[in-house]
Amino acid sequence: MIVPSKDLPVVVIGAGPVGLAAAAHLADRGVDFVVLESGPSAAAAIEEWRHVRLFSPWRYGVDSAARRLLDEAGWTEPDPDMLPTGGDLIDQYLAPLVKTPQLADRIQYGAEVVAVTRAGFDRIRTAGRDDAPFLIRLADGEELTASAVVDAAGTWRKPNVLGGSGIPARGETDAADAVAHALPDVLGRDRARFAGRRTAVVGAGHSASTTLLDLGELAEQEPGTEIVWVVRGSSQERTYGGGEADELPARGALGERVKKLVQSGRVELVGGFRTEGITRTADGRVQLVAGEQAVVADTVVNSTGFRPDHGVVAELRLDLDPILGSTRALAPLIDPNKHSCGTVPPHGVDELAHPEQGYYAIGAKSYGRAPTFLLATGYEQARSVVAALAGDWEAARDVQLDLPETGVCSSSLAFPGEEATASSGCCGPAPQATAGNSAAEPARATSRGLATGIGGGLLTVLDPPKVTQSGCCS
Ligand SMILES: Cc1cc2nc3c(=O)[nH]c(=O)nc-3n(C[C@H](O)[C@H](O)[C@H](O)COP(=O)(O)OP(=O)(O)OC[C@H]3O[C@@H](n4cnc5c(N)ncnc54)[C@H](O)[C@@H]3O)c2cc1C
Repeated sequence: MIVPSKDLPVVVIGAGPVGLAAAAHLADRGVDFVVLESGPSAAAAIEEWRHVRLFSPWRYGVDSAARRLLDEAGWTEPDPDMLPTGGDLIDQYLAPLVKTPQLADRIQYGAEVVAVTRAGFDRIRTAGRDDAPFLIRLADGEELTASAVVDAAGTWRKPNVLGGSGIPARGETDAADAVAHALPDVLGRDRARFAGRRTAVVGAGHSASTTLLDLGELAEQEPGTEIVWVVRGSSQERTYGGGEADELPARGALGERVKKLVQSGRVELVGGFRTEGITRTADGRVQLVAGEQAVVADTVVNSTGFRPDHGVVAELRLDLDPILGSTRALAPLIDPNKHSCGTVPPHGVDELAHPEQGYYAIGAKSYGRAPTFLLATGYEQARSVVAALAGDWEAARDVQLDLPETGVCSSSLAFPGEEATASSGCCGPAPQATAGNSAAEPARATSRGLATGIGGGLLTVLDPPKVTQSGCCS
């Protein structure tokens, strides 16, 4: 007999910062829940980049309900102005959080969700669907039922391919052993792989910048360390972003440091390169090929961004944006083809809803392929979705978000040698993009921040905006 859905717990997929925020809000509201985490401990994805320093300070890294649970447990909050590393985020925030009595016995580790459906219903069947419980299958074959599913699985496990056309480059699968995941610990545990060797970093996002800077430091210590930076775009100025104009100074500084590194000659920059194939060379290296161009390296670091895994929930009725893979309602608010910054309008349960009632993707996964996700956004999503699941629709719809602005958000996309575009036009930020405390702030016409566009991250290469007859970006 199938238990009525309403008597079942909410299942949260993923014990990353946003899944745990959802868990904290569920605990706060007295809603029964279980968190399923594929890794051996909380924040298994961040564990892999624990050596990386975040660009946003602690004040944007702690969820409100999580803070309440931690405060009750006698937590000492880190200095809100300090920048944590991924490791700090785990050690000083998430690890204590999962030990609080409200969460401790609600999290299953080593529990990888491989499929989510409605018990007794495939995607086609409608009558009675909304009353049927969700059925969640784990990799070890265990099955659970749930009243609702909050999918906070992130995107870390599904990197984009190197192939410039969105499918693996020819030979990419065979060359997998020569390709490193984004953000290797170049100066720490992965040092031997890069010291005294030639590395090609592919991609133009924040991850690529971080790796380039680490490789630059390694090159100073280890003779023979060579770095080549492979990007799709060709506008170098755009690559470096906006420095001091960024309201997250750490993020702004990153672009400046990468620029200096390239100018020092330590990094060879190869622009306009869309990888088509990867081949082995006679001496055991790999060669990236794009038309007549070729780049040879010992190791390729894939810093091309991430994409969500919707395969796990393929039997659910999803309303996905055809470009980003976020919900259709969220897409225009975060579309990196239009928004070149991390600021987004407040959004919550309404923008995250799918036709499948009771299923919500939140956190990095909710943004699909858009590279602009910030923790503060995810925490507000978690608060809103959980309020809705608890039946408090007033709180669910009272969405608020106050994010730091990047300079590029509030400016024209004007760069040296280019004409400024009107910030109020469709090439500039959406009017709502400055929602929150900064709603009244006027656009700063000359400022620049780190772009977060289609190049794949928080530091990006964008082709110059094309101005059509109507004056809008194409
Ligand atoms: C290097 C780096 C730096 C960043 N810096 C910042 C910053 O400074 N400020 C900021 O606001 N944001 C930053 N971000 C963006 C974002 O906040 C992080 O990616 C954040 O970790 C996203 O949280 P999440 O909970 O959505 O996903 P994740 O942290 O990816 O957590 C997802 C969890 O789900 C688990 N999981 C995955 N699949 C399954 C499954 N099938 N079954 C069960 N469990 C599963 C994973 O093991 C993981 O623990 C950064 C991202 C990166 C990569």
